[in-house]
Amino acid sequence: MDMFAVLEKLAVPRPNHSEAVEKTAAYLQGLLSSWDIPFTVQEFVLRPYQQLLVGYACFFLSLLVLLFVIKRKPLPILISAVAIWVLLFLEFEYFIPLVSPLITKTGQNIIVNFPAADAVRELVFAAHYDSKTDFFDHIERAKVYRFIPIAGVLGLLMSLWVLLRKKFASLGRPALSIATVCLAGALSVYWGLVALGFGGYIFLSGQSCGAVDNGGAVVTLLALAKDIREGRVKTGKSTVTIVFFAGEEVGPQGSRHFVKKYFGEDAAKRTVPASLVNLELVGQNGNMLYWTKNGIFLSFLATDAGLRARLDAAWKGVSGKTMDAGGSITDDALHFLRAGIPAITVGHTGIPGLGEGGFHDVTDCMDRVNPDNLYLMRRTLKKYIEGY
Ligand SMILES: [Zn+2]
Repeated sequence: MDMFAVLEKLAVPRPNHSEAVEKTAAYLQGLLSSWDIPFTVQEFVLRPYQQLLVGYACFFLSLLVLLFVIKRKPLPILISAVAIWVLLFLEFEYFIPLVSPLITKTGQNIIVNFPAADAVRELVFAAHYDSKTDFFDHIERAKVYRFIPIAGVLGLLMSLWVLLRKKFASLGRPALSIATVCLAGALSVYWGLVALGFGGYIFLSGQSCGAVDNGGAVVTLLALAKDIREGRVKTGKSTVTIVFFAGEEVGPQGSRHFVKKYFGEDAAKRTVPASLVNLELVGQNGNMLYWTKNGIFLSFLATDAGLRARLDAAWKGVSGKTMDAGGSITDDALHFLRAGIPAITVGHTGIPGLGEGGFHDVTDCMDRVNPDNLYLMRRTLKKYIEGY
């Protein structure tokens, strides 16, 4: 299989709200069928505009804060300011949809299963096939998002301040009124910037091809599936499951559905224990990389040390090198870790080059791909499976 040629076909913008994501799913299924590899499709309710809807809802709530500051109503200010926090935490940290179900469509996870006769373990490999374009690049975005906690707290303090101004005549001076309204206005402008960060991509014409995030990973797992099917990987007593997720860039939603439905409630207590190797940013320049933590806002879970050691041994066998340690990431492995399933995400450092930056942007197209690294990851995963 010519991995680079398949990646060239895959590397087109395929955001979750577009028809291109269905076309990509169909392309993947067509390839698997043409190689005589059985697969199942797991459908789920996909909320393709999650960030956009949450972003604009936060902006709207900040406008309510401004309105009630002008009207000098402390309790409605408090309710609107608290609603911003509730929305952000429930939607993003706890995956409880509030505004994102306003627009839904059907998402598809594609599952390939190679069962072992006397399986003693299940090795799951995963990669998401959707892509994303963001309004700000990662540096601009970080500059904007870093003030979210401060803006959230200021919104809450606004209600207290307006309450104090109503109680004490000395705080009712016109200059303070103007300053208070200006601050509330500045907060609304700020939440407007956050909304652009979350949902401003609808105004952009240039789109990320998602070549390295995460086309390279998808191609690597396609090649792995073909290698297993054609007997080039000795899977032994390991059942190997390869999953292509949708909805990663808006949640991650596909993997949340998969973990719930595929493993059920007692994921960590199965008689055939499962583990996950998730692939992100595979096929750019640089050394193999693993991320040490996975999380969103509050809790960051450590990725699995046992899997890391096995992957490190496999990578050493292929290249003579040890993996680099990355920081934290938010991706599909999160739901496995939260369910008590050992998991880790690996990819490539991107150095020399843009490293972990320059994704969700036009800079993530084919000229960023390092074909040698695609091939090396394929060999490393084979060695990893055979190492059990
Ligand atoms: Zn990704």
